[in-house]
Amino acid sequence: RPLIIAIDGYSSCGKSTLARQLASALQYKYIDSGAMYRAITYELLRRKINLDDLAAIREVLKDIHLDFKYDPSSGRSVILLNGEDVEQAIRSWEVSEAVSQVAAIPEVREFAVAQQRRMGKQRGIVMDGRDIGTVVFPDADVKIFMTADVKIRAQRRWKELQPLHPEISLAEVEKNLLERDRLDTQRAVSPLRKAADAFVIDNSHLTEPQQLQMAMDYVQK
Ligand code: C5P
Repeated sequence: RPLIIAIDGYSSCGKSTLARQLASALQYKYIDSGAMYRAITYELLRRKINLDDLAAIREVLKDIHLDFKYDPSSGRSVILLNGEDVEQAIRSWEVSEAVSQVAAIPEVREFAVAQQRRMGKQRGIVMDGRDIGTVVFPDADVKIFMTADVKIRAQRRWKELQPLHPEISLAEVEKNLLERDRLDTQRAVSPLRKAADAFVIDNSHLTEPQQLQMAMDYVQK
């Protein structure tokens, strides 16, 4: 029977690259749970909602419908926010700076987790995030936890950000990664943790084919 594969870990460890390649190798669906928290954050910022105003945030959640659409031209799926493709917009620096605060709000997590579990019903999925193996799918068939040296993570993310935000320095990127990791590991609800039964991949010095091979070997064991 098709598996549920959970990939968790720190910010910018290469989780989504591995998850996408693993899904493609197994002909499974890839679901980027972080994109959901980013899309919610994007909508809150766009509506200029004060991130401490819980009542207002609850109202906005009622109006939000999230979906993933497979785009055959790129072979990737894009996230739709009320039907609008926001895949690019949610990667902005403004969203990266606010998302971990939003993701710590219990109502936001309830909203996202309910939807993630629905998407898991059909099985045959690879989902990446922070709490997939611990909270969303504690019974996942395969759990992988990714780490990497923070300097290497910052360097990779900085390169990715260059086209969109040439003004952001490497030091700022590193600071943002560390701050998100801090908020994600210290929040009260569903903090980022390695599941006891997760297989750890340290991605500091692995190539993409190497990390895919490691994960495939583990999945097929
Ligand atoms: O995966 P990505 O870095 O895009 O996720 C953005 C943010 O969303 C994370 O820093 C974290 O605060 C939050 N997140 C989460 N739980 C998940 C996925 C992401 O709290 N399952």
